Amino acid sequence: MIQAQKGTKDILPEESPTWQKMEAAANKIFSAANFNEIRTPIFEATELFARGVGDSTDIVNKEMYTFEKSERSLTLRPENTAGVVRAYIEHGFSRLPQPVKLWYKGPMFRYERPQAGRQRQFHQVGVEMFGTAEPAADAEVINLAVKYLNELGLNDLDVEINSLCCPECRKNYREAIKNVLAPYLPQLCEDCNFRYEKNPLRMLDCKVDSCKKIFEKEEVQKVILGDFICEECKEHFEKVQQYLKALNIKFKINKLLVRGLDYYNRTVFEIKSNNLGSQNAVCGGGRYDSLVETLGGPSTPAVGWAMGMERLYSLIEKTEAPRLDVFVVSEVPEEALKIVQDLREYGFKAEFDYSNRKFKKQLDKAAKTAKYALILMEDEIKSNTVTLKNLDTSEQVNLPRNDYKKQIV
Ligand code: ATP
Ligand code: MG
Repeated sequence: MIQAQKGTKDILPEESPTWQKMEAAANKIFSAANFNEIRTPIFEATELFARGVGDSTDIVNKEMYTFEKSERSLTLRPENTAGVVRAYIEHGFSRLPQPVKLWYKGPMFRYERPQAGRQRQFHQVGVEMFGTAEPAADAEVINLAVKYLNELGLNDLDVEINSLCCPECRKNYREAIKNVLAPYLPQLCEDCNFRYEKNPLRMLDCKVDSCKKIFEKEEVQKVILGDFICEECKEHFEKVQQYLKALNIKFKINKLLVRGLDYYNRTVFEIKSNNLGSQNAVCGGGRYDSLVETLGGPSTPAVGWAMGMERLYSLIEKTEAPRLDVFVVSEVPEEALKIVQDLREYGFKAEFDYSNRKFKKQLDKAAKTAKYALILMEDEIKSNTVTLKNLDTSEQVNLPRNDYKKQIV
């Protein structure tokens, strides 16, 4: 038997209503803030991710699904920011009035070791805001993430923010981190040794306990907590905080927060939900002012975030599909078909017995699946009436065929 691939999962009919709830909430919250949905292709040129996500990241180094077609290297998207930026450039969105505000949802692909909350095909929902470097934009997208989570009933959230500053001050910070960690390289993990060369700040994000211990050492902490931030970035970061406070969003500054992707500068943030086990980061994002230019577009500041929808799913209250409003019980299929259609057009969820079984069998099926049985047997057809049975109370009334729908509630 052919089975679903490791790290992939069917979203089953009983799970779909909850997925639809997540999608509808996204549409509602983001549309209200004047963000428009964009849908980009699931595969792109590999180069887009190598340049856009960064070749020092785990995503590009270890996790991409890459294949060749007509001598082109293609990759299943591991995230959607690079694709959205590509579309922004390709369609000349920089010529539109700015900011351009977009949101997306859909499957992403990463070759990871499957475990709870971690799949090889998973879904993200995210927002991207282009064309404004203002701290109000950072606050706006963080606020949107919080409001979206609130809409889905998640209120116990930890919002963590940090500033990765601009490339200039980051250079000094990076050097200081490299200097203080140099003596510890033999004790640090293989990944950290690799990051030390490629992207030393990413080391701070390491999940290996023995590495974390080294980062807690006083001399290392002194560098991490040191003030490398320049005046302009400091002012930006302070304004973001001021706006978050105005919005009543509780947040913490986490100096270890560096995010997995290479393209961030200034504000980065993560939102954790307290109902989750070890993988409790549900949303991650930040400002990426150089990415549009890196990918060949005009210099355009931008800020955004992505959320993992499987993790979101595991946290929120599940929704069940509503049961049928009406099950039509009739031994005359032509009549059943007609009245079912009439009910559906009126807005009810309605069904009948396709195999035209005996009355009793049909009524049993109705009792199991619907709020009402609409009985349409020989007697009713002759008198041009229907019998409506409330299956919760067993009350039954005979009504004129042209005037029964108002009785269904
Ligand atoms: P992590 O540190 O957990 O690997 P990440 O930095 O790779 O996260 P991002 O690329 O920022 O994550 O993606 C944003 C969100 O997408 C994550 O917070 C998580 O909820 C979700 N996510 C990332 N990878 C997976 C995966 N393999 N399976 C399910 N969800 C994922
Ligand atoms: Mg990851």
